[in-house]
Amino acid sequence: MTHHSLPLLFLGALVTAMLALCMFVVAERHRADGLFDWAWAMAALGLAAASWALPSQTPLWLTVAVPNVLLASAFAFTLQGLLRFQDERLHPGWLWGPVLLALVLNAALLHTPALRHWGMAAVVLAQWLYFFGLLRRHWAGIPGRSKYLFASGTTLLMGGLGAGPLVLEHVGPEISALTLYPFCMAVVIHGMGSVLMSKERSDTRNRQLAYTDELTGLHNRRAMEQHLVQQIAQACRADQTFSLLLLDIDHFKQVNDEHGHLQGDKVLCAVARVLQNSLRSQDIAGRWGGEEFLVLLPNTAAAPALVLAERLRTNVASACDVTVSIGLHTMHGLPDESADAMLDAADRALYAAKGQGRNCVATSRPRTGATAAV
Ligand code: GH3
Ligand code: MG
Ligand code: MG
Repeated sequence: MTHHSLPLLFLGALVTAMLALCMFVVAERHRADGLFDWAWAMAALGLAAASWALPSQTPLWLTVAVPNVLLASAFAFTLQGLLRFQDERLHPGWLWGPVLLALVLNAALLHTPALRHWGMAAVVLAQWLYFFGLLRRHWAGIPGRSKYLFASGTTLLMGGLGAGPLVLEHVGPEISALTLYPFCMAVVIHGMGSVLMSKERSDTRNRQLAYTDELTGLHNRRAMEQHLVQQIAQACRADQTFSLLLLDIDHFKQVNDEHGHLQGDKVLCAVARVLQNSLRSQDIAGRWGGEEFLVLLPNTAAAPALVLAERLRTNVASACDVTVSIGLHTMHGLPDESADAMLDAADRALYAAKGQGRNCVATSRPRTGATAAV
């Protein structure tokens, strides 16, 4: 390397090493997310940059062959991290074969730079093609926007480091030194992308956990409360109505007492499955608590809601060993109709259904307090 590039190379090596260090610190708890492999990739890049910065009297294998093998290793680690992130397996031979190839190629062509550059470009291109294919296959399933950073940072790095030497052969040392700026930028984008991608997926998983009922897999109460508020706002805005159903399994305590809590849990799951399979795609079902379920029926007036409630009731009765009582309330479009008022009305309707002998649907009109069993 020329004296023009040395300070920049040291800076590049330092930035990369610091990023690697930071990634190792956070990666410990995220091994399954590929972050640990990506930290190794960053460390290999840092070491490669440090080898380039060695004095000119250093043997060629140390300033050329070692950094080239480190680059191929960095991209192999990047791939390994992405495979782990996606819970995929690839035979290690395919992953580390290109690294071995880079080693052989650099040993054989140490004194033939033009051929060596072409060989390394081919190795990195093969690694990038696999990286691109893998990312493309999983693109839609990776949450958040940091995947754009990861994809572009890695592509810039691989493109720049793979094809760069072919171009740099033909330019002067001043221009060659300038290419270290994009190298530093690509390293930062790639590093940020990998850390944030892992963080964004953890966030998404945590959000899902926070809004999902663990036993049945339906929305939990917190999620249903939010959906209810949204549905009320949507109905008011669009001048539509919507209905809600409160379902309660009849004599569920007896199921637990006679068959045990594990069997009771299975019944809860079976009822949840029937709800999911019986509802339309726009309907939202959740576990409200214990053996109670809440169903929101957007843009559904009282009459069709009653038909749907009846269908749910008969489906549960025929598919499970239990029956359900259902309280139905339809929004009246009054500006002060709150979530609590609607829930209260459905709860009173449910109470009426229980009073009517269970295994039935009752509707409620909160303003008049009238309920009618079906
Ligand atoms: P009713 O017809 O009046 O609704 O009678 P019920 O027995 O269904 O109602 P009750 O409120 O007396 O009992 C509800 C039972 O649901 C009591 C509680 O142990 C059981 N339960 C609540 N959550 C769970 C759960 O997650 N798993 C199991 N197995 N049972 C639960
Ligand atoms: Mg109950
Ligand atoms: Mg009950």
